[in-house]
Amino acid sequence: MIALDQHPSGRHFLQIPGPSPVPDRILRAMSLPTIDHRGPEFGALGRQVLQGIAQVFQTVHPVVIYPSSGTGAWEAALVNTLSGGDAVLMVETGHFASLWHKLATRLGVQVELISLPGMDAATGLPVSWRNGVPADRIAERLAADREHRIRAVCVVHNETSTGVTSDIAAVRRAIDGAGHPALLLVDTISGLASADYRHDEWGIDVSVSGSQKGLMLPPGISFNALSPKALEVSQRARLPKSYWAWDEMVAMGRDGYFPYTPNTNLLYGLSESLDMLLEQGLPRVFERHQRWAAGVRAAVAAWGLPIQCADPARHSPVLTGVVTPPGVDADALRRLIHERYDLSLGTGLGKVKGRMFRIGHLGDSNDLTLLAAVAGVEMGLVQAGVKIAGSGVQAAMDHYRTNPGDTR
Ligand SMILES: *Cc1c(COP(=O)(O)O)cnc(C)c1O
Repeated sequence: MIALDQHPSGRHFLQIPGPSPVPDRILRAMSLPTIDHRGPEFGALGRQVLQGIAQVFQTVHPVVIYPSSGTGAWEAALVNTLSGGDAVLMVETGHFASLWHKLATRLGVQVELISLPGMDAATGLPVSWRNGVPADRIAERLAADREHRIRAVCVVHNETSTGVTSDIAAVRRAIDGAGHPALLLVDTISGLASADYRHDEWGIDVSVSGSQKGLMLPPGISFNALSPKALEVSQRARLPKSYWAWDEMVAMGRDGYFPYTPNTNLLYGLSESLDMLLEQGLPRVFERHQRWAAGVRAAVAAWGLPIQCADPARHSPVLTGVVTPPGVDADALRRLIHERYDLSLGTGLGKVKGRMFRIGHLGDSNDLTLLAAVAGVEMGLVQAGVKIAGSGVQAAMDHYRTNPGDTR
């Protein structure tokens, strides 16, 4: 056991944008005994979770579940659709887009990276790390690729390092508008089950996701949702693969089984999570996250601090990135808040390290949880000597009180 004296009395506030807090209902479901993954009960569980997760992706096509973190499902999306030396187009929206880029490069894929140039005058942060995917730049690039050398466009739906949610339907329109056959591969590891996401309607070929964000599960399983075109292309893709290969996964998945030992207890948890999400209905889940996010943004505005997402139309319902004033080390502030109030906030990653922190508002939460998180941040800011313009707690209370909607 880990030393529980790390957590004094009361509950720890896990307000990072994933892993998100796991509800008791899911923890209890996962404590059931592990069963034979080739036995009859398992097939029923497998069929149920595969059918349920397809509803969450809003697809009627196959989904593959891997016993891996999200990074594994990133790799699976590429090795099943590409061959060595293939060209792909990616967009630098932040740290996770950069990591996917690095992974693709290591696999021997030729990645062309679109990045909005320059530094933002107000914050000194890279412009590309404050904005979403520029669909117009993708359209331009694909129109110029007359020989159709680019095999796939790979973008991040909800960039967890910045708090920007991109318009994926616009990316699809850009590809179609250019009359280009490239596949559309989308990372919705942190978007799925918190932000609206429509695999079929938005014409996505491969969606990549993971368990520990909107699905409210511990880390350890990940997903690829497929399109018929992706399945067809996968038959010709030559990058080496075995563990990640879709063919056997999809074939055995039809009966609810896996070619190797699946993560049985996490699948119990997934079954419970799907019940919770689908009982409520996805529109309610998405609305609730939008409302929580707006309350947290009201707090940040009241403090007088910049929100990292520069485009109000693209604010993330999953998390809010808060930029600290020049000279204030965001990580020192996070440490102070953690030590003093047992509240964990997301760190600034990559190019924004030390310049910002992230407040997660995804998954198992409610108004009062978020008010407490905002209060912890506000006390920490004052204690760190940051001059705040006004009370974020008051602004968030006003927001939640005057915007009834679904609170939980
Ligand atoms: C969390 C996350 C990942 C990485 O997933 P792991 O489970 O840590 O491998 C990738 N992309 C995004 C957008 C994420 O939020």
